[in-house]
Amino acid sequence: MSNASDPRTPAPTSAELFERALKVIPSGVNSPVRAFGSVGGNPPFIVSASGALLRDADGREYVDMVGSWGPMILGHANPSVVEAVREAAGKGLSFGAPQPGEVLLAEELTSRVRPLEQIRLVNSGTEATMSALRLARAATGRDVVVKFAGCYHGHVDALLAEAGSGVATFALPGSAGVTAATAKDTVVLPYGDREALTELFSQRGGEIAAIITEAAPANMGVVPPPVQDGTGFNRFLADTAHAAGALLISDEVLSGFRAGAEGQYGIDGEGWEPDLMTFGKVIGGGLPVGAFGGRAELMRLLAPAGPVYQAGTLSGNPLATAAGLATLAGLDDAAYETISRASLAVQEAVASALADAGVPHVVQSTGTLFSVFFRDQPVHTYEDAKDQNTEAFTRFFHSLLEQGVHLPPSAFEAWFLSTAHTDQVLDRLFEALPAAAKAAAQG
Ligand SMILES: *Cc1c(COP(=O)(O)O)cnc(C)c1O
Repeated sequence: MSNASDPRTPAPTSAELFERALKVIPSGVNSPVRAFGSVGGNPPFIVSASGALLRDADGREYVDMVGSWGPMILGHANPSVVEAVREAAGKGLSFGAPQPGEVLLAEELTSRVRPLEQIRLVNSGTEATMSALRLARAATGRDVVVKFAGCYHGHVDALLAEAGSGVATFALPGSAGVTAATAKDTVVLPYGDREALTELFSQRGGEIAAIITEAAPANMGVVPPPVQDGTGFNRFLADTAHAAGALLISDEVLSGFRAGAEGQYGIDGEGWEPDLMTFGKVIGGGLPVGAFGGRAELMRLLAPAGPVYQAGTLSGNPLATAAGLATLAGLDDAAYETISRASLAVQEAVASALADAGVPHVVQSTGTLFSVFFRDQPVHTYEDAKDQNTEAFTRFFHSLLEQGVHLPPSAFEAWFLSTAHTDQVLDRLFEALPAAAKAAAQG
């Protein structure tokens, strides 16, 4: 399979599609990071994908390290997932009435993740965090929400302040169009800063509805929650919130069912619980699904029984629940073992290629979730994460793309593997790494 030698003169079909897209879609994309804004060049248009491989509109093949940003944990076009969706589609696309798949998916999720007694399905991670926030405010009768710089929770107005992901990639201060009144109820603290949190709660504890955090930050690159004096950061957050009558919302949209079988929660150790959790990505297997859940006593506050309105025309869609159920069915111990082995092998290979080329780098991980920072010191905060050699990353990225490996087009993103990243597929990445590392070194 041949690839262009110069990524900035893309293949003709993708180039033409992008030109047309730019006329009718803002920046040519429906989600910012896809536009290649921070790495330059035009994005390839993908026409099909199978296992760990993508094929673009010009017939070029890539080893996919994006996995649709998380959902494709069993690989693309996984036969059992595709078959489940095909079967569901034959029975009708949406009913606007309860359907059995919703019950099955809720049972599956609540049985796999201990703190979940009840969940409600939505259509995206953004909807999940937005709804969890509304529920937390209603349950506490308070307005203020605490978030951490570099944590991304979707494009909810109140949560865009100092968010990661696309907001990090494009160095946006938050977002235009978010009112001062909305922003005023959001307090942003440095990730991992226990003193700042304690200080805030001592001053404003009575106003705080919830702390929301990524269970393991992965939208500024992967930052494992720090353990201090034997106490993990997430447990510290739960204790601090609960002592003040506030809630902890643990956002596992990215880490859920990916960092490990029980997400980051399963890695953090027992003896504490978040009040609400949010999910997305993996639980939809590639179709639009999100979920939020927690103790039944809290979840009962939702409409129609409770006073907190929350709804969705397509929520609990039968195709989406079929894809989610088939994906979770494929995620057994063997699947996590496969992904874990692939994750370790890639981390080692990347670190050794960059070291050989003399490129400063740090690989950070939690469970099977990992990312590569182009700097020589560990990353604990958003400030650390922003202090990277993004030019080196850009050269590394384009060299790999030329060689047929599609990394996330940003130095602030996790790399995503699947059960389809076999040794054979990974060899293609490993063969491409030395040249990419050399390119990164030439600054
Ligand atoms: C992706 C993500 C979201 C938003 O999910 P969407 O489905 O893109 O709306 C929220 N929180 C985290 C941690 C995410 O990674």
